[in-house]
Amino acid sequence: MAKQLKPETLCVQAGWTPTKGEPRVLPIYQSTTFKYDTSEQMARLFDLEESGYFYTRLQNPTNDAVAAKIAALEGGVAGMLTSSGQAANFYAIFNICQAGDHFVCSSAIYGGTFNLFGVTMKKLGIDVTFVSPDASEEELSAAFRPETKALFGETVSNPSLEVLDIEKFARVAHAHGVPLIVDNTFPTPINCRPFEWGADIVTHSTTKYMDGHAVSVGGCVVDSGNFDWEAHAGKFPGLCTPDESYHGLTYTKAFGKMAYITKATAQLMRDLGSIQSPMNAFLLNLGLETLHLRVPRHCANAQRVAEYLAAHPSEVAWVNYCGLPGNKYYDLAQKYMPHGSCGVIAFGLKGGRERSIKFMDALKFVAIVTHVADARSCVLHPASHTHRQMTDEQLLEAGVRPDLIRLSVGIESADDIIDDIEQALES
Ligand SMILES: *Cc1c(COP(=O)(O)O)cnc(C)c1O
Repeated sequence: MAKQLKPETLCVQAGWTPTKGEPRVLPIYQSTTFKYDTSEQMARLFDLEESGYFYTRLQNPTNDAVAAKIAALEGGVAGMLTSSGQAANFYAIFNICQAGDHFVCSSAIYGGTFNLFGVTMKKLGIDVTFVSPDASEEELSAAFRPETKALFGETVSNPSLEVLDIEKFARVAHAHGVPLIVDNTFPTPINCRPFEWGADIVTHSTTKYMDGHAVSVGGCVVDSGNFDWEAHAGKFPGLCTPDESYHGLTYTKAFGKMAYITKATAQLMRDLGSIQSPMNAFLLNLGLETLHLRVPRHCANAQRVAEYLAAHPSEVAWVNYCGLPGNKYYDLAQKYMPHGSCGVIAFGLKGGRERSIKFMDALKFVAIVTHVADARSCVLHPASHTHRQMTDEQLLEAGVRPDLIRLSVGIESADDIIDDIEQALES
């Protein structure tokens, strides 16, 4: 393709290019297995000498088409769908870290990721150091050790809405010879493409805006193909030395820019099996086809709601939305996401925790649900819901105030959303 297609076109068209007589719409390959004529043909697939489908745990055409669409949107070389965002973040790290290794991570991340990294992965012998996303390059560097293998952050953190200085994080990661992995769930590639700012791997919970309708849990890992694993071969033996479970194949030698994602698929997905079902991938693709229409609407509505909340200081103690001038992250958001960040707002009410809970109960169509970033507006109180296993101290470290209400602004009428908020504030 001579000219790079724009994101709007990629949302609709990328990943599935049917030829003569094939379905116009991406089909659901609801099949665990794929047929070959000879034993020799199948053997070449198992040796990774030829690419082709043989078992859906490893690869499935529906999933691959959707992963290719997301990779195209992010500007990466390849992607891999996973069963959830949690699986995506686990695979992204575990693909290059093993027992005895360590990675550095922004403390402003999703609560589920915080537990995965801080508790569960520690049990596997992989250690993590959390650092503030606002840390200076010197402070970030100080967290690195000889066995550090990655740096991780969220473009816009859920639910604290802190904006990652991607260029700063990429500089520090690269100075230490490790990749920067960015969870880009909230902005989506419509608003931010972290690879353009130096990130090496991007992850997504596709459960959120990408699906957009709250119908299927899923995740994705995308490889930029830019990180030079061979230049730091000593740190990444899994990629740069022979894999005994694949007849001594070396991923960097056999697959070049596709080494990281091929290893994730051929080794981790083979062994751990957190695939996305083809049915869910099909639903995700329907969501992706309108991502470029929905995301700007989420942002426009959220901007209006944030401005409304900020204009009611007698009720509202504070509002955190990086689209508001004066927000701590306004300048960073303008730099990395000039067309808008996401539809999620965090705020606290005068009267603290108790008032917040009363307010949420009084809302009519803005529902209390453990979800975020779909078409329907919803609220959540992290301290009593998603983050309830965390102490107040841990909450504050993760940028989550105990009175924080997370409001995910949907794509309904902004007037109606504001009316619902107003009546709940008055009640
Ligand atoms: C929701 C979320 C996850 C986890 O994704 P699941 O699909 O729920 O497993 C990871 N990162 C971010 C930023 C999220 O919002």
